[in-house]
Amino acid sequence: MDRFNIMWTGGLDSTYTMIVYSRYEVEIQPYYLKNGRRSEKYEIQAMREIEKDILLHKETKAKILPLIIIEPGEIPRDPEVEAAYLRLKEEGALGSQYDWIARYARHHDVEGLFYSPVKPMSSSTKFRSCIEANGGITEKVNCVGRTYFTIDMEKSSTDLKLIFGDFNISETFDMTKVDEEKVLRENGYGDIIEKTWFCHTPVLGKACGCCHPCEATIEAGQIWRFTESRIKRYQELMAGASPFKVRLETFIDVILGK
Ligand SMILES: [Zn+2]
Repeated sequence: MDRFNIMWTGGLDSTYTMIVYSRYEVEIQPYYLKNGRRSEKYEIQAMREIEKDILLHKETKAKILPLIIIEPGEIPRDPEVEAAYLRLKEEGALGSQYDWIARYARHHDVEGLFYSPVKPMSSSTKFRSCIEANGGITEKVNCVGRTYFTIDMEKSSTDLKLIFGDFNISETFDMTKVDEEKVLRENGYGDIIEKTWFCHTPVLGKACGCCHPCEATIEAGQIWRFTESRIKRYQELMAGASPFKVRLETFIDVILGK
């Protein structure tokens, strides 16, 4: 049975990839990286619930293996990968998870691990900018007939190949969150969308409306995920209000059930 290794966060984009491959007779090995985010317990809870729903879905044919949780402390040092990451980071503040996951995959022989970056609604992302500045990607079709992408090994720099060369990039690369939501709803996965977790800095268990993933979710038109007051605070922040003041007000809103 073909095996698909997928980085899963409990968010919409990587859940989309999980669902895509759940519909084939394959083995799925999900991986999750812990790095001390305040949202981790909500992400893990979301994945547990979503996995149950996927397994109950009538179109599910895949076997989903138990989630592997990667602890940063268990990831071996690798001067070559770390130096490559630091050079890429200098150019565009690339997130530290890419260094950790590249080292983990290299030392645990994890092949073709899927990232699920989504097409942004407006400005580019650090991930895309990094790939564009250091090479490119190439489109492929895999054994179950799905489109995916990898780093272009001819055009890309040695650093880019060291950090992303062993990874697969999901078909989400060519989709916006709106596209993902449409496909999932049309195929009977609407309930799962509502269980995905996206906020990095929740306030008493509620999405904050102000962190980067919340911003991307609002920009993608998924306003239904937030209360009216959270959208109002987001608009205040966008208009230049102090993040500290907005967070404090959000805290009070949540306590008041708004
Ligand atoms: Zn948030």
